[in-house]
Amino acid sequence: MTAIRIEGLTKRYGSGDTAVDALKGVDMSIAAGEVVGLIGPSGSGKSTLLKCLGAVTEPTAGRMTLGGETIFDSGQGGWISKDLHALRRDRIGFVFQAPYLIPFLDVTDNVALLPMLAGKSNNQSRLRAMELLRALDVAHRAKASVVQLSGGEQQRVAIARALANQPPVILADEPTAPLDSERALIVMTILGQMASQYQTAIIVVTHDEKIIPTFRRIYHIRDGITYEEQGEGRTLQGLS
Ligand code: ADP
Repeated sequence: MTAIRIEGLTKRYGSGDTAVDALKGVDMSIAAGEVVGLIGPSGSGKSTLLKCLGAVTEPTAGRMTLGGETIFDSGQGGWISKDLHALRRDRIGFVFQAPYLIPFLDVTDNVALLPMLAGKSNNQSRLRAMELLRALDVAHRAKASVVQLSGGEQQRVAIARALANQPPVILADEPTAPLDSERALIVMTILGQMASQYQTAIIVVTHDEKIIPTFRRIYHIRDGITYEEQGEGRTLQGLS
């Protein structure tokens, strides 16, 4: 199944002489369970594309489908859902360079918070959080305060949080930038396992040379246009 489909996406900032065309007709298609890289120099349009996909910025034209459902179509007047908060909360997971965990909640509640906000009971939300913490090998830290965790453990909890509402899509912005090679490759392995276990499509925006060989498919972006390339798709074993 196609989890993300983007067709003819454009974004113009401003108007008249000062207009900037940040996206000039982007086409992408990502299957459920697939992890793809999005790579491009500064100013090429990566953040604009993530912001459009994350329903933070309104595209100028084109169409975007998430998990088989059209979320934006300029031919139908723009955003299909009028509740963009719910769209972001329920259908898109975000992983950032820094984990941004909430320091006064324990590990379980950092993960359970989003399902709670989406209306699930506290009990159901915590059961879901525990399932993910087990899948990510950090269940033994479930009751710990997040400030007691190592950097690697914090990033695992951040990945668990991104998966908490079972979104069809995760957008990861430079998730390995602060990590050394070994930890960066472990994070990529975990993302790959989670993508296939939960059939989530994951887009990883990166400049990180260490992880580029792990992608099977890469979209390069330059001046608002994407080009697709087959990657090497190497595993952790293949890299060491
Ligand atoms: P990247 O994330 O690859 O660095 P961006 O998506 O941030 O690229 O930027 C793409 C282009 O759009 C750049 O020319 C940038 O200056 C321009 N741009 C980004 N945000 C805005 C904005 N809010 N207003 C005007 N121009 C913008």
